Amino acid sequence: MSDQIIPTHTCDYDVAIIGLGPTGATLSNLLAIQGLRVLVLERDKDIFALPRAVHFDGECMRVFQTIGIADALLPNLFVGPGMKFVNAQGKLLIDWQRPTCIGPHGWCASYKFHQPDLENALRERLARQSNVDVRLRHEVFALDETADGVQLRFEDTSRGKLGRATARYVVGCDGARSIARRFMGTELTDLKSHERWVVVDTMLNAPRPDLGDFSIQYCDPARPTTYTRGPGNRRRWEIMVMPGDDAAQLSSADWLWDKLARWISPADARLERSAVYTFHSVVANGWRRGRLLLAGDAAHQTPPFMGQGMAAGIRDASNLAWKLGAVLRGEASDALLDTYESERSPHVREFIETAVQLGSVIQTTHPELANARDCEMAEAIRKFVTPQPKLGPGEWMDDASGTAGHIAPQPRLNDGRLLDDVAGYRFALVALPAVLEACPNLPDEAARADVALFVGEASIREWLASIGAVAVLVRPDRYVFGVAHSVHAVDQLLEQAVLHQRTENA
Ligand SMILES: Cc1cc2nc3c(=O)[nH]c(=O)nc-3n(C[C@H](O)[C@H](O)[C@H](O)COP(=O)(O)OP(=O)(O)OC[C@H]3O[C@@H](n4cnc5c(N)ncnc54)[C@H](O)[C@@H]3O)c2cc1C
Repeated sequence: MSDQIIPTHTCDYDVAIIGLGPTGATLSNLLAIQGLRVLVLERDKDIFALPRAVHFDGECMRVFQTIGIADALLPNLFVGPGMKFVNAQGKLLIDWQRPTCIGPHGWCASYKFHQPDLENALRERLARQSNVDVRLRHEVFALDETADGVQLRFEDTSRGKLGRATARYVVGCDGARSIARRFMGTELTDLKSHERWVVVDTMLNAPRPDLGDFSIQYCDPARPTTYTRGPGNRRRWEIMVMPGDDAAQLSSADWLWDKLARWISPADARLERSAVYTFHSVVANGWRRGRLLLAGDAAHQTPPFMGQGMAAGIRDASNLAWKLGAVLRGEASDALLDTYESERSPHVREFIETAVQLGSVIQTTHPELANARDCEMAEAIRKFVTPQPKLGPGEWMDDASGTAGHIAPQPRLNDGRLLDDVAGYRFALVALPAVLEACPNLPDEAARADVALFVGEASIREWLASIGAVAVLVRPDRYVFGVAHSVHAVDQLLEQAVLHQRTENA
């Protein structure tokens, strides 16, 4: 993508981001690599200290690759083999296997990580960007839309000093209790799952291979519990709060050790941190109002049974960043920003609804219902496969192969490099050699449209053959914009993707 920005003298920044959690940090990095002027206002001084995400998928790793932190993250990741759901007697109910080899994204399907490590890596990367102004201990308390931007009012809580700044767009990455969402007047659709759980992170004194590498959902109606391993000696347990529990005791060391006794004792590990959470499942209706947008937990929340809450925020950031860049550079009309919610909302909803369904298996606490569930599931072990939803309608052209709207694979090229590294942060056209023979001007056309062109790579030929295509146009967020099934359709594809936006905006 071109990094030439249309001057915006009337606003201090192109984009202001409220909140530097994983969503805000990912979005600011993706905006920074496009040369945009970004302000980040974060209420807290330090990274959130309580236990949260432990898992992300290969698609997230690809976003981290684009940002340039994937290699730095790798040594502190553990490749997860999957998750098993067992009943009170230990019988397998659901088997969710994740391949541990490199998959279609060019990365593994499931990584276990320590959320503060990721957030530190994102912040360190951001600190190297001269076009990003990160202000910690700055709490936003008001947003006022102006003719060509938004004015943010905030307090520098380290000095009690009030301040203002203006930006052409503001993105609320400010978590579940988002102030941006309040100012937008956006309401939430409740997907009806709100259970209380205690989450405890432990550090083993020595490896304990007997605990296993699979995550286990113990679907025991007496006390549903989740075990999951992290990198190194980190182990997590999530323990459902039951009606008879003494609220004052939850999270006390005695209560936790009592619940962990089946697996470990104080001689085996130390308690690192714990928290009591209510796991919500909600989706916001209205992710954009004018120049205000929402991303991450501000726009949706899911129970953690699939490990997809943060991942959804990373996908939001990836979907939104290139669109904001195109609009701010004057390459696209701001209607492109409406495709953000229309594409992302149904996608995230599918993950949340699936997590709620899995949650209803785990969170069955009535003994008779649990018995009925076990009998029903005794017929056959259910093999669970990770959902691969398509984007909702938006900036992509549907086609008969069903490929467009899905994320593209990331093969290695003939020289061993990964496709995204060579493509950079822009559209990429991957094509069969026959396309170049028929359209010798294609390299010039692609260069004019700032589209990376890949022709004749063996791994790409294989993918195109599998979907009966001669060429595929991939967006900067690596989702497929459109597919050409004949040589003649290629020009049209390029035109639709890039020239259409420019003409529309002229
Ligand atoms: C127990 C548990 C387990 C989980 N496991 C997983 C998992 O395995 N995989 C996964 O993908 N997800 C998981 N999640 C979900 C994941 O942790 C969250 O979805 C993710 O952290 C949300 O990131 P965010 O950046 O959108 O919001 P947050 O991390 O909440 O960040 C919001 C930021 O905004 C700041 N802020 C708020 N208001 C203001 C304001 N007015 N002014 C300035 N700053 C403000 C806050 O201080 C905060 O830093 C889990 C969650 C829980 C609770």
